[in-house]
Amino acid sequence: MVYKTEGIVLRTRSLGEADTLVTLYTKEHGKVRAAARGARRPRNRLMGPAQVFTHGRYILFKGKQLDTLSQGDIIHSYQAFREDLDWMASAMYAAEVMDVLIEEGEPNPDLFYLLSNTFQLGKQGRFRFALRVFELRLMQFLGYEPQMEACISCHSPLESQIYFTVEGGAVCPACRSQFRGVRPLSPNGWQWMKRLLHWDYARVNILHPSDNALEELSQLMQSYISYRLERPLKSLDFLSTVQKPAPPSRGKEKNSTSPTSPVD
Ligand SMILES: [Zn+2]
Repeated sequence: MVYKTEGIVLRTRSLGEADTLVTLYTKEHGKVRAAARGARRPRNRLMGPAQVFTHGRYILFKGKQLDTLSQGDIIHSYQAFREDLDWMASAMYAAEVMDVLIEEGEPNPDLFYLLSNTFQLGKQGRFRFALRVFELRLMQFLGYEPQMEACISCHSPLESQIYFTVEGGAVCPACRSQFRGVRPLSPNGWQWMKRLLHWDYARVNILHPSDNALEELSQLMQSYISYRLERPLKSLDFLSTVQKPAPPSRGKEKNSTSPTSPVD
């Protein structure tokens, strides 16, 4: 059976002498794995479409064990993501989280649009923002949305002292000792988390959180996602190693941890 689909290449690995095994996240069929025969031969027509991060229209043959990629037309090559370490690490992180959290099959066009928009924003130089939206919305789409409106334990309203637990969202000072992976959450970070979760997704690109807010959300959501995985993400180490320091912040406050400092 032949099928056509629009997809983004999440990862690739060598298969045999000249083939590439690609994992695609597709709009119509969810996560799909396929062999691109001959894609590692020079001038092969599948070479471009089978490169990691490529967004294209694909024609595949359904196989018993493995599908075969027969044709691909590139919509966005995202060549720049493969040439800049910072961008590569960011794109790899989004792709790896999708790959690890999502089973094959189970189509979900919202998830495809989320990844596609994350890459588009990344290409505009906004990966730091795009990944925060990606983390929160992915958790929401997959049913792991952090609960932020009130304390997840006693349901009392949250005021100035707010904490965040990897076990489910915001907690009040009185309840925080019941949970694991608890960190303080600033009122500003709290507002941004709620906004990024509930803002009309089609218009999310107009938002511009401060660098401090993005850094805070990054730390919290990376632990939140890691808590839901069976193994650590390879791309997180890479991301923290290569990420350029955030531009100097305009405010006078300083973050106690930076993405490049080792975290125990
Ligand atoms: Zn409470």
